[in-house]
Amino acid sequence: MSVASQIESINAALPEGTRLVAVSKFHPAEAVQEAYNAGQRIFGESRVQELLSKASVLPSDIEWHFIGHLQTNKIRQILPFVSLIHGADSLRLLQEINKEAQKINRKIPCLLQIHIAAEDTKFGFSPDECQKLAEEGAFNNLEFIQLSGLMGMASLTDNFNQIDQEFKTLKLLFDRLSQGAFRSNKHFSELSMGMSDDYPVALENGSTLIRIGTRIFGQRNY
Ligand SMILES: *Cc1c(COP(=O)(O)O)cnc(C)c1O
Repeated sequence: MSVASQIESINAALPEGTRLVAVSKFHPAEAVQEAYNAGQRIFGESRVQELLSKASVLPSDIEWHFIGHLQTNKIRQILPFVSLIHGADSLRLLQEINKEAQKINRKIPCLLQIHIAAEDTKFGFSPDECQKLAEEGAFNNLEFIQLSGLMGMASLTDNFNQIDQEFKTLKLLFDRLSQGAFRSNKHFSELSMGMSDDYPVALENGSTLIRIGTRIFGQRNY
């Protein structure tokens, strides 16, 4: 299937209030343009240089989401171009983003990345750690961060029962925080979960942002 028909078929099946992030990492600007022509406006990239070089040649109404692990020395370059950072995975990173955002006087929407997978190679807060920090008010002094929700990645497994449990863990934390520590934050509304192989499970569990690469653009050549 073509890029355009994949975009159309995924979007047609999305519940109200859920948006598609087309993950274009490792694919050329031409592939992004093809998806754009099919109506797609939100794209996800995981490397700073790649996002910047694509943003410089592609239409300016594209919403670029950064979905990778952000190194502190790259924050400054990316802030003017990014509309959502999915992978805010430590308090230190948030503090650095806040500092750089203040310099350009821009409030940056960020999702807290939560570690829900069984593999221990993935970045993020544990659910307990995140809840504890939130209750202690550790996220409250970040004036130039707009805390917009949570992001997580399930284990790389074909055990859908396990994936379902992991997404449920993330949704439970999201509900607790939105009714608890973050209840006065009206921006705390996004739950970013679901990739090419597991997004139907994520949708069943209340995902509001699915991040799909391979299913749209094909295999990546690293
Ligand atoms: C690469 C990537 C995706 C897309 O993965 P696919 O399996 O190709 O859909 C989604 N989320 C994150 C964080 C990624 O790094």
